[in-house]
Amino acid sequence: MRQVDHFIHGGAGAAGTRFADIMDPNNGGVQAQVVLGDQSVLDAAVAAAQAAQPAWAAMNPQRRARVMFDFKALIEKHMDELAHMLSAEHGKVIADSKGDIQRGLEVVEFCCGLPHVLKGEYTHGAGPGIDVWSMRQPLGIGAGITPFNFPAMIPLWMGAVATSVGNAFILKPSERDPSVPNRLAELFLEAGMPAGIFQVVHGDKEMVDAILDHPAISAVSFVGSSDIAHYVYNRGVAAGKRVQAMGGAKNHGIVMPDADLDQVVNDLTGAAFGSAGERCMALPVVVPVGDDTAERLKAKLIPAIEALRVGISTDADAHYGPVVTAQHKAKVEGWIQTCVDEGGELVVDGRGFKLQGHEEGYFIGPTLFDHVTTDMESYKEEIFGPVLQMVRAANFEEALALPSKHQYGNGVAIFTRNGHAAREFAARVNVGMVGINVPIPVPVAYHSFGGWKRSGFGDTDQYGMEGIKFWTKVKKITARWPDGSPDGTNAFIIPTMG
Ligand code: NAD
Repeated sequence: MRQVDHFIHGGAGAAGTRFADIMDPNNGGVQAQVVLGDQSVLDAAVAAAQAAQPAWAAMNPQRRARVMFDFKALIEKHMDELAHMLSAEHGKVIADSKGDIQRGLEVVEFCCGLPHVLKGEYTHGAGPGIDVWSMRQPLGIGAGITPFNFPAMIPLWMGAVATSVGNAFILKPSERDPSVPNRLAELFLEAGMPAGIFQVVHGDKEMVDAILDHPAISAVSFVGSSDIAHYVYNRGVAAGKRVQAMGGAKNHGIVMPDADLDQVVNDLTGAAFGSAGERCMALPVVVPVGDDTAERLKAKLIPAIEALRVGISTDADAHYGPVVTAQHKAKVEGWIQTCVDEGGELVVDGRGFKLQGHEEGYFIGPTLFDHVTTDMESYKEEIFGPVLQMVRAANFEEALALPSKHQYGNGVAIFTRNGHAAREFAARVNVGMVGINVPIPVPVAYHSFGGWKRSGFGDTDQYGMEGIKFWTKVKKITARWPDGSPDGTNAFIIPTMG
């Protein structure tokens, strides 16, 4: 059976004794195994990072940028191969896998311009003969711990920024789809990055704890579910590290009475069900304002949902594929039952969906609930599946309060033709990323990504200037060069030979 190994110092590293199964979401069953590392594996990666990082940091930034340019070209060259590898382990359709890779690639493109963003500030003559300037320096060795749902994009959010500014970076990807991260490490090497600068260690909680406690690791970037994010944040900070930890989400889409409902339905079917709802920026809650809006929206949504095609990840006509594992399928279907038990009106039921020829695959049909209320556990918690819950609001203020008061604050969207309503909403909503007639408002790579409340612990966001800030420290230099001429005339003393 295929085995996924660590990628340490430019090659497959260290044999293992513990393994995790990598499932085949399209067909069920085990397709490969990934090795689960321990402290000794991490120590080997740290030693390789320590040996390689000083020379990498000392290299001029244009040369590091050239590696990023070459890496970008290699990802483009291998796009199809990477997308198929990703879909086979994650289950998302090929178009979504390409999107996953593309959004990571855009962060690599941002990193090609790093010589510009690393420039410090300078003040000439801050006092008599005194100049002050600042420079951004790398932290040394950083680590990233990533979730299963974007196995290309999220490692690149962290790894491209961390390495381009001169750090060595150790990635601990999700054990559910670990092959693409290894392939990215190979491509970094091929692009000219020295061995030891981008490494991959695989593992579970044991490896995560080893990273959080390792004295040579200065910073940890985490993306995953909120309870683990909170744990990682607390333990990493207690160990004296810089930590950013992005968590779960429950994003709302507010539909004002004047919204273009055909556009909303089109956006919702993609944002709620695309990638089987396994996106932290999915829209699993829709909030129509007014019962009339709710009825009109529901009438258009039902046929659109029923027309969605669920298929295997290589089916080019499928809107979405299976969820990642049998356990996750059971969890999502459990939430559907909870919502029924809590009094939600089940309008479209996706449970029990079987795809002909792939009966053992982890498929769930699209599911729609109406009359979901804020006291329901199924509303409060993240479901992370192809389930859309409709929560009706009587007016704008009630709609604004829903995402603002929710425990998560990752993304939110408002659909309206009214600029004033949109402007008020964007200014007042208590959520980190806002879309105005944009269902999935993931900021482009030269802005930054990050949610609020239980969706993000720590001060800095991912990528863009926030990412540069996270992965560097600022040194401030104050220099004084008094007049050195003996008679104080400012005449320069030219040293003479002999
Ligand atoms: P997860 O929290 O189960 O796993 C994330 C990482 O933590 C993995 O590398 C995993 O190996 C590790 N981990 C798991 N259990 C651990 C434990 N007990 N102790 C230490 N480490 C542990 O998340 P997931 O299921 O892989 O990903 C889905 C979650 O990620 C969802 O909640 C989703 O909303 C969230 N997510 C958030 C963002 C964001 O930017 N806010 C982006 C993508 C995904």
